[in-house]
Amino acid sequence: MLSADFSHLADDIEMLNRSEADWIHLDIMDGVFVPNISFGFPVLKHVAALAAKPLDVHLMIVEPQKFIPEIKDLGTMMMNVHYEACVHLHRVIGAIKEAGMKAGVTLNPSTPVMMLSDVIRDVDLVLLMGVNPGFGGQKFIEHTLVKVRQLREMIERSGSGALIEVDGGVNLATGRRLVAAGADVLVAGNAVFSADDPLEAIHCLKTL
Ligand code: ZN
Repeated sequence: MLSADFSHLADDIEMLNRSEADWIHLDIMDGVFVPNISFGFPVLKHVAALAAKPLDVHLMIVEPQKFIPEIKDLGTMMMNVHYEACVHLHRVIGAIKEAGMKAGVTLNPSTPVMMLSDVIRDVDLVLLMGVNPGFGGQKFIEHTLVKVRQLREMIERSGSGALIEVDGGVNLATGRRLVAAGADVLVAGNAVFSADDPLEAIHCLKTL
């Protein structure tokens, strides 16, 4: 949703509801963990009320565990926290699941995949950043493809059921390569909302 038209948010959510997209991905920024601020709970409540698809909430904030009840109240399906924002990651993953949500952990481009080897069987999803988080419309970091392959190997070796999601710089060209490398879920912002026909753009991404 970060790339949506915030002055016509309801129209964009309605478009997503009618689209082939599986989830609606919401990027929450606090101006501390990332150098930008996106939107907070007053906006999120309106989005959640209109959304007819499961919510994938990506918290780019410090101490995300403080907001587990509020994120749950939105009706969130997947709560994504950053590895770099959680000192006690294992505890946070447990608390998210205890609240009845699926637990996702996000890695910045500079964080190696191996940092998750001790929790990989506890998480439902790993979100790899294809750009440094904070802004939409950035250029894809090529090394993300190596990380997808490493993560796929770790998941298979450990018997984890975690999905691999990629966020940042995703378009048809990078998306095709990410799926071939082993990605399960693609987050697309600009590639959808800057397209002449967003529904068609989503359709093309879905058929990769
Ligand atoms: Zn995101």
